[in-house]
Amino acid sequence: MLKIKNLYVSINKNLIIKGLNLKIKKGEIHIIMGPNGSGKSTLSYIIAGKPKYKIEDGEILFNNKIINNLKPDKISKLGIFLSFQNPVEIDGLSMYNFIKSFIKKKNNNNILKNIYKKCEKLNINKKYLSRYFNLGFSGGEKKKNEILQMLILKPKLTILDEIDSGLDIDSLKNILNNIKQYINKKKKKRSLLIITHYTNIINYIKPNFVHIIYDGKIIKSGNKKLIKKIEKYGYNKFIN
Ligand code: ADP
Ligand code: MG
Repeated sequence: MLKIKNLYVSINKNLIIKGLNLKIKKGEIHIIMGPNGSGKSTLSYIIAGKPKYKIEDGEILFNNKIINNLKPDKISKLGIFLSFQNPVEIDGLSMYNFIKSFIKKKNNNNILKNIYKKCEKLNINKKYLSRYFNLGFSGGEKKKNEILQMLILKPKLTILDEIDSGLDIDSLKNILNNIKQYINKKKKKRSLLIITHYTNIINYIKPNFVHIIYDGKIIKSGNKKLIKKIEKYGYNKFIN
């Protein structure tokens, strides 16, 4: 589904991603961990097509189509969704209008019913729908809002950048269970890339692969046992 070949990415002429390779097949769950500043968020942004991030070399393919130069909206329409580490606030745009804008069916009653149902699953108070998008939301509330968008957009590939940060323990369990349910509903078709520091995530979501990213490259890949090693030894053991 997603293939990243020998990728080099710079921001403001600083090289951040330095020869990264990654392959995610349909239905696979991958976890990426790594020290602060190693390029995790940059990787997620470049897949989603963030402007000003420059691909210096290499390729990103989604279902065998090169998406290097596509704009974010085109990438989103192909079925890639990124949940931001720090979701943006948009003053003047209500959450309802934002979410409604990417629902294809234009039958208002059904749209509202659908959104309400998903809010209920995520314990989001319906009142939030009339508030401006993320404006003044707490960190955790913004994260719930990200997952609400995922449930409505139904992406083929979901990238979660530190979805666990800012959530209280009950909300965290709820969100992770919702993500799991979403993937399991079409297990062979939906893929997941989770960027996290939260090693306990494997108690909720079982990854096929775990990777360590350091200085813009994947320096080690393994299965869920790698998370246990990271927990025990930290990253130094893996960095030469
Ligand atoms: P991570 O998510 O792994 O903590 P990031 O991808 O956010 O790391 O950042 C990787 C590196 O890129 C960091 O050293 C960061 O300071 C740098 N970086 C990120 N954004 C910019 C920017 N706009 N200009 C210059 N450097 C940046
Ligand atoms: Mg980050």
